[in-house]
Amino acid sequence: MIIYGVRNRTHTTWQAPAPCRRCGATTVHTGVQSRRWLTLFFIPVIPLWQRCRLYCNRCGLATTPTRAVWEALRCQRIAPA
Ligand SMILES: [Zn+2]
Repeated sequence: MIIYGVRNRTHTTWQAPAPCRRCGATTVHTGVQSRRWLTLFFIPVIPLWQRCRLYCNRCGLATTPTRAVWEALRCQRIAPA
């Protein structure tokens, strides 16, 4: 019998200042990466997809940045989270 499934792994990558649409000011944002894995016997073996999200630390607004915006903010990071 083969036991298989999927599992999400999420981790906080960094924090950087960026303009927020809801706050209307430049605030610190947290970059979070999520990756879904195919698992065999509960062990992640094949990555299926990856998603990057930005969360405003002041209001909590979540956005999905483009790859260019993600890389630009990653270079401006003020601290690894
Ligand atoms: Zn905000």
